[in-house]
Amino acid sequence: RTAQEALSRLTVDVADWPQEGVTFKDITPVLADHHAFSAIITALAAAGRDDHGNVVVDKVVGMEARGFILAAPVALALGIGFVPVRKHGKLPRATHAVSYALEYGEATLEVHRDAIEPGERVLMVDDVLATGGTVVATRQLIEACGGVAVGASVLMELGFLDPRSVTGDLPIATLLTI
Ligand code: 5GP
Repeated sequence: RTAQEALSRLTVDVADWPQEGVTFKDITPVLADHHAFSAIITALAAAGRDDHGNVVVDKVVGMEARGFILAAPVALALGIGFVPVRKHGKLPRATHAVSYALEYGEATLEVHRDAIEPGERVLMVDDVLATGGTVVATRQLIEACGGVAVGASVLMELGFLDPRSVTGDLPIATLLTI
């Protein structure tokens, strides 16, 4: 598929960043190429449709910060709303908050309490699934709002970190497994 091909061709491996021993997948060259960007958005959005092409989710959540870049155009492609999940202290109104461990360091994520209606079906979109901690924390935020986390759609999964042992039964669509 075009999206997978563009993703593997344009992603740059950055050794020892942001710290020694970590090889960071830099996707900014994918975003800078219009055809590649368009292809990956279409591919990510497929997780929000059934086999007949009908949209089966109500909201798309993007995780700060690279998730925003991908989730917003996915929401527009599906014709539904976008909700930002942000790092601690960035959202101005009442939030739900969840703390979790990162591949490197620790973080707290928040969502506006009224951003997701009870019963809404929510798709998470992010660039990289690493340890799985971000997806699990975001799922908890969606559920704290009363929403249903129906799955996650990501560009790349770092299989060697075994994220699926952490994300459990949550369906995750990935374009590329490293
Ligand atoms: P996890 O919580 O699954 O360990 O980490 C996933 C989060 O960290 C995602 O939001 C992702 O943006 C970021 N992340 C972790 N490793 C990488 C990487 O190698 N490349 C990029 N672009 N993001 C990463």
